[in-house]
Amino acid sequence: MIEKLLNTSVSAFVAMTLSIAAVAAAIDVRAHQQPAGEARYLGNEGIMVALAGHKVLVDAFYAQSFSTYPLVPEHLVTDMISGRPPFDNVAAVLVSHVHGDHFSPAPMLAYLRAQPQVRVFCPQQVFDQLQQAGAGLDILERVTAIDLEPGDAPEQLHSGDLEIDVVALPHAGGERMADVHNLSFRVTLGNRHTFVHLGDAAVDRPAFARHQLFWAARSVDTAFPPYWFVDDETGLRLLQDYLAPGQTIGIHVPAAAAGQGDAWRDQLGADLFTDPGEFRRLEHRH
Ligand SMILES: [Zn+2]
Ligand SMILES: [Zn+2]
Repeated sequence: MIEKLLNTSVSAFVAMTLSIAAVAAAIDVRAHQQPAGEARYLGNEGIMVALAGHKVLVDAFYAQSFSTYPLVPEHLVTDMISGRPPFDNVAAVLVSHVHGDHFSPAPMLAYLRAQPQVRVFCPQQVFDQLQQAGAGLDILERVTAIDLEPGDAPEQLHSGDLEIDVVALPHAGGERMADVHNLSFRVTLGNRHTFVHLGDAAVDRPAFARHQLFWAARSVDTAFPPYWFVDDETGLRLLQDYLAPGQTIGIHVPAAAAGQGDAWRDQLGADLFTDPGEFRRLEHRH
């Protein structure tokens, strides 16, 4: 009798374990069936982050290489302007700052005229240049100008399923760059993945520390710092202390690294974007 009871409870336990395993397997399958996100490199600090139909471009339209940094190849510019996949249904373009290796009015205007659904979030200095370059009201009403300096409180913006948090961090280069308003964006796509693009932020601990509460408010899945952060002990510590990202991909890497990505990544001991068009799968933290 005892043996029979035992057998019954053992088989009940086995059945229960099997059903738990089945549920776990189903959840696992669902998790793996979610469309994978990706980050695609355009050139210099230009990237597209895409996840489950949410797509955002950052620093994607510029015309200056300063004989050092990669331009976006012509075929990628054409694909973006014509909205050819994977550049279809882009929701927003973010611009970190007004420098010519991050933003130029002409390609940005060509893009905005061709893609009327796209919204822009940028510093006031970029808005002013678009206006001076002849952007009409039909364009400017889609552009949100953000007038922030490093001491100012961060701003929170929303656009569709995008949450866009913005903080001003001083541009690398010290006093001579003080007039350039550099924005760092923290963007959450569809409440599922958060990335940070620092623009040309300086490795400057007080500048990060001043916004400690801002950084602590949300965990970061992927960070795209300029490569001078991953090439520098202090920069790496700042990333770890304030962003603690799950995944880090350095950008703003000189054009000389194109075709030599593995050697540069080995030497810096960090992931980097070096070849326009390359991409990474986004890693999720659960
Ligand atoms: Zn700059
Ligand atoms: Zn730059």
